[in-house]
Amino acid sequence: MKRYAKYIDKARRLKVKDAKIIPAASIVAAEWVGLKCQFGCDGYGQCLTCPPYSPTPQRTRRMLAEYKYGLLIHGDGNINITRTVSILERLIFLDGYYKALGMGAGPCELCARCPKFCRHSEKARPSMEACGIDVYSTVRANGLPIEVLRSTNCQGNYYGVVLIE
Ligand code: SF4
Repeated sequence: MKRYAKYIDKARRLKVKDAKIIPAASIVAAEWVGLKCQFGCDGYGQCLTCPPYSPTPQRTRRMLAEYKYGLLIHGDGNINITRTVSILERLIFLDGYYKALGMGAGPCELCARCPKFCRHSEKARPSMEACGIDVYSTVRANGLPIEVLRSTNCQGNYYGVVLIE
């Protein structure tokens, strides 16, 4: 996958812990993820990049079938994953990969509150989990670490992906 090596380099220069090219087929979308957002997350419905506004797991699964590869990035909380994803998505798109599409981590924090329509749609991206992606299964299938955080002292692992082509 030599043609994508420059994106891994760029991701590292943006201070990600790790980045790798993964098969899109290894990205898992599952029904339970949407229900965990709806029943268990106080951000549900608070942000235009989160459910119920973001793609359902079914739609995400159909969309994933249109891609072969993605760039998975790993951060430890010291970088803004979604911002990094939007930078990488633009770079990849401008290289001619016209389908480049990114998903980050967590709710959008670009504005204090969302109006009816997004103010910064060029930068705002839904999180992987907001699109119904089982981040745990996806990350573990690609050999990267992720665990349930059992206390606020635990160091988190955060992920984003840019689908390439
Ligand atoms: S950019 Fe602003 S309006 Fe758009 S989703 Fe993010 S917080 Fe909401």
